[in-house]
Amino acid sequence: MSVLPKKGFIEKFAENIGVIPRLDNENSKIEPIKDPGDLSNYPPPEQWDNWVEYEATKWSRKKERHYTIVPTSCFNCESGCGLLSYIDKETGEVRKFEGNPYHPASRGRNCAKGPATINQINDPDRILYPMRRVGKRGEGQWERVTWDVVLDEIAAKIRKAIEEGRNNEISYHVGRPGHEGFMDRVLQAWGIDGHNSHTNVCSSGARTGFALWDGSDRKMPDFANAEFILMISAHLESGHYFNPHAQRIIESKNSGTKIAVMDIRLSNTASRADHWMATYPGTEAAVLLAIAKVILDEGLYNEAFLRDWINWDVWLEADHPETERTFENFILKIREEYAEYTPEFAEQESGTDAQVIVDVARQVGRAGSRLSTINWRSASSGNLGGWQIARCLQFLNVLTGSIGTKGGSLPSSWNKYSPKMPNPPPAQKYWNELHFPKEYPLAHFEMSFLLPHFLKEGRGKLDVYFTRVFNPVWTFPDGFSWIEVLRDPEKIGIHAALTPTWNETAYFADYVLPMGHASERHDIISYETHAGKWIAFRQPVLREAARRRGEQVEYTYESNPGEVWEEDEFWIELSWRIDPDGSLGIRDYFVSPYRPGEKMSIDEYYQYIFERVPGLPEIAEKEGMSPLDYMRRFGAFEMEEEVFELYKNVLSEQQLSGSMVDEKSGLVTKDGTAIGIMINGKARTGFDSPSRKQEFFSQTLVDWKWPEHRLPGYIRSHIHSEQMENAKGEFPLVPTFRLPTLIHSRSGNAKWLAEISNRNPLWMHTSDADRFCFKNDDLIRVNTEIGFFIAKVWVTESMRPGVVACSHHIGRWRRPQDPEANRWATNSVEILEVESGKWKMNVLDGINAFDGEDADMSRIFWRDGGVHQNITHAVHPDPISGMHCWHQKVRLEKAHPGDRYGDLFVDTKKSFQVYKDWLESSRPAPGPGGLRRPLWFKRPLKPVLEKFYLK
Ligand code: SF4
Repeated sequence: MSVLPKKGFIEKFAENIGVIPRLDNENSKIEPIKDPGDLSNYPPPEQWDNWVEYEATKWSRKKERHYTIVPTSCFNCESGCGLLSYIDKETGEVRKFEGNPYHPASRGRNCAKGPATINQINDPDRILYPMRRVGKRGEGQWERVTWDVVLDEIAAKIRKAIEEGRNNEISYHVGRPGHEGFMDRVLQAWGIDGHNSHTNVCSSGARTGFALWDGSDRKMPDFANAEFILMISAHLESGHYFNPHAQRIIESKNSGTKIAVMDIRLSNTASRADHWMATYPGTEAAVLLAIAKVILDEGLYNEAFLRDWINWDVWLEADHPETERTFENFILKIREEYAEYTPEFAEQESGTDAQVIVDVARQVGRAGSRLSTINWRSASSGNLGGWQIARCLQFLNVLTGSIGTKGGSLPSSWNKYSPKMPNPPPAQKYWNELHFPKEYPLAHFEMSFLLPHFLKEGRGKLDVYFTRVFNPVWTFPDGFSWIEVLRDPEKIGIHAALTPTWNETAYFADYVLPMGHASERHDIISYETHAGKWIAFRQPVLREAARRRGEQVEYTYESNPGEVWEEDEFWIELSWRIDPDGSLGIRDYFVSPYRPGEKMSIDEYYQYIFERVPGLPEIAEKEGMSPLDYMRRFGAFEMEEEVFELYKNVLSEQQLSGSMVDEKSGLVTKDGTAIGIMINGKARTGFDSPSRKQEFFSQTLVDWKWPEHRLPGYIRSHIHSEQMENAKGEFPLVPTFRLPTLIHSRSGNAKWLAEISNRNPLWMHTSDADRFCFKNDDLIRVNTEIGFFIAKVWVTESMRPGVVACSHHIGRWRRPQDPEANRWATNSVEILEVESGKWKMNVLDGINAFDGEDADMSRIFWRDGGVHQNITHAVHPDPISGMHCWHQKVRLEKAHPGDRYGDLFVDTKKSFQVYKDWLESSRPAPGPGGLRRPLWFKRPLKPVLEKFYLK
C-alpha cells in the first residue's frame, strides 16, 4: 500500500509563486537551510535585562511592560529545547515562555508543549509543599511537612539500610531523566546499585538492535543533509527529539528530500511523506530485508564501506568455512542468505505493495551515504523481536555506507557531551537482581516493568523507593500489579515520589515531594539532535532574576512558588544527612571543589562543569563573563557545528604507545581493551563494537545462546496475523502512538494542551467498522489477555484495515479521596477490588467545568476524559532486549449493558501468569566465563567488574 500526496490548489499555487519547491520534481535539491531565520523577531540579548513590550491584555492603552528575560530549557520531553522566560519586573512573575534563538538544536522554535510550561507553573492544582501520608497508603490523606522533616526521616532509613549492608533495598526509579549524570553520582556515592528506569517500556528494543551493530544504542540521523529519509512510524510529529528533528526534516523536505514512512496510521508524518507504507505491525523487518535484497541484487551497495567496515570475513568463517574468504564470495553468500526476502514475500507479510518496496529500495540505494533513517520506539517497542526491526533498519545504512556521514546516520555519542563532574565516586560493589535479573542477561536496560512481579515472587524487597517524575501505575502496563505492591509495606518500606504534579503513582506514596518544572530547577542537557554538538542549561529563572537584582538565594525553593524544590539540591542535602559525621564516606562526594571540607553549593557544581566544557571558557571570556555566567545569560553553547566520520580517525602515536595488533583481525588493543582497528595499513578508531567494525554477524548472540539471531533477520511478532482469528473479532491493537501535544503524564495540568488534545478513541478502518457494524462514538469493549477496557470507536480511512489503534497519554484518573488535581484531564473514578486480584475501575464522571482560581476552569468545554488502556495490558518481556512488547492481541465486541466509557477490569492473577509464560522463553545467564552480561554491553550505573560474574 502506498500513497503519494496529491497536490491541492494551495500546493500548486505555492509552487507556482515559488513559496515551496516543486513537489514532484525528483531531481530538485537545493542546499538545506542552516540559519533558523531572521533573529530580529527575537529580543536581542543586550536588551534581555530590560525588554519592553505592550501589555497584551491592555493593548488599546499601550501600557508598557518591562521584562527580565532569563533562558532555560524545556522539560516537557527529552529534547531540552531552549526557552526564554519573560519575568515581569513589576510583579516578579513569569508571564510567558518563548523560544530561545541561541539554542543550537531548537533555534528559537518550540512545539506546543514548550510555551505551555506557563500553564504548569501557574496551575492552581499543583503541589506546592512537601506532603506526608496520613493513614494507610493509598487512602488519600496527606499532611504538609517541612523539607527538614522529610530529609531527616528518609536519611535515617537510608543510613540504616547501608549500615546493615542492605544496599540493594534502596532504589531510585526515574521516568523523565535529564539531569545528565547527577543521579549516577549520587547513587554511586551511596554505594548502591540503585538505578531503575523506564527505558524498557520505551526504547530498549531499538537500542538493542542498533547496539548490536556498533555499540551505539542511539542513532542521530542527519536529516538536514539527507537525500532520502526512511522513518518507522510518526517520528516527524511526535518522535524522539521531536521539535529539533521535525524542523530539520521539514527543511530537508522543502529542499527536495524524499520521505518514506512505515506507519499503520495516515499520521501527520505519513501525510507529509512521498511513500506511506502501512505495513502490518511487526512486519517492518520483512520489508526492510526486501529493500536490502534489492540493494544487494542491483549492486546499489557501497562496496568500499562494506569491504572495510563490516565483519563479513568473520561471518564467512563461522557460517561458510568451506568458502574462500573474499569480498566477492561474501556478496554471493549474503545474497543467498536473503534470497527468500523477495518484495513479494514482504508484500505477503506486510500488505505493502511489492512495487512500492522496489521503488523505495532504489531510492534508498541511490541516496547512498545520504540516507537518514529513524526508528525510536514505535515498531521496535511494540513487537516480540522488535529489536530486529532497528537492526534491519541500520542494515540499510550499512549497505549504503551512510554510517557517520553527512546526511547519514551517526552514533549518538559523537553529538552528545558528557560533563566532567567534581570528584566522581567509584563503581558500586553491588548487583541488584531486581533490576538486572539472570533471566534477561542481554536486556538493554533494567527490567523495570517486571518489578511488581519480582517483589510478589519474593526475589527481594525495597526499603526506600524513590520515584522521580515517574508514574508506572499509569504509564506502564499492568498498573494494578503496581498498586498491589505499592500499597504493601512488606514489599516497599517507604516510597517517596519526587514529582512536579500529582499522579496515579503518587497517590500510593508515603511522601510526595514537589519538584520544579522547566523554569524551577537546574539541569544540564546535551543531546544528539543534529550533526552538531551542544550543551544547554536548565535554570530556576526566578532565582536567576533575584541574583541579577543582587539578592542572595541559598536554596532554589526559596525563589520557587511555595516550597517547590529541585532534585540536585535535594540530593546534596540528603547525602549530607545520611552521613552527618562523614563516617560512611558519602559526604566526601558532596564537598565543594573550591572550599575544602564545606558542603558543595549548586552554583559550585555547575561552575565546575562549565569551566571544563571545551571552548566555553574562551567564548565566555570574550564576552567578559565566567563560563557559568555565560550559560546563565544565553542558556546554551554550541561546541561543534558538525561532527562526521569519527570512526575513521587515525590513532595518535600516544594512543598507540604500548598497544598490540592482532594479526588476523587487525584489532588494536591496549591493556586488554580494544582501542582501534587496522584498515588498509592505518590504525583507526573504528566503532564501539568488539570488532571495532559494524557487526553484521553477532558472535555475542551466538555466545549468549541465540545463534538463530546472529544476523539481521525477521522475527514474527506475537501479534502476527497468523495469531488472529478475525471472525472472532480478534485484532492487533497498536497502543504506542501519541498525540504530539501531550506529555506522558504531565499534561494533565497544562490547560492549553488539554484543550488541544482531549480524547483517545479507538481508530478503526471503515471496512472493519462496516463488517462489525460499528459507527463513530459507539462504545466498544476491548478485551485483552487480563481484562478489558471500554473505548469509543473512531471510524476512519486514515488507518490500515485489520488493525486498531489507540493513543496513550489520555485516560488520566483520580479517585474521590485523591487531591483535586489535573482537573483539566482526569476522569473521576472509583476503584473496587471485587475479589482478590480482580480490579474494577468505574468512571464516575468525565471532565467538567468548575469554578476555580483560574477563570479558564469554568470554560472547559470538553467532557471526554479518555480511557486508561495500559492498565489492562499484561507484561510482555522480549527475551533478548528485555523490551516490553506493547502491541496487544485484543478481541473486540460491542459494549455490554451497563458499560460506561472509560470503565475497565483487570485480573492481576492472570497478569502474573502471563508474566510467567513469557519468562519461560528467556535464556538465562551465565554466559561465557560465568558472566551475567556481555562486558561490552552498556549498562546504566556499571558496578565493579567482579559483580559481572555469577558466583
Ligand atoms: S520538543 Fe516540545 S516538549 Fe520537547 S523540549 Fe522541545 S518544546 Fe519542549
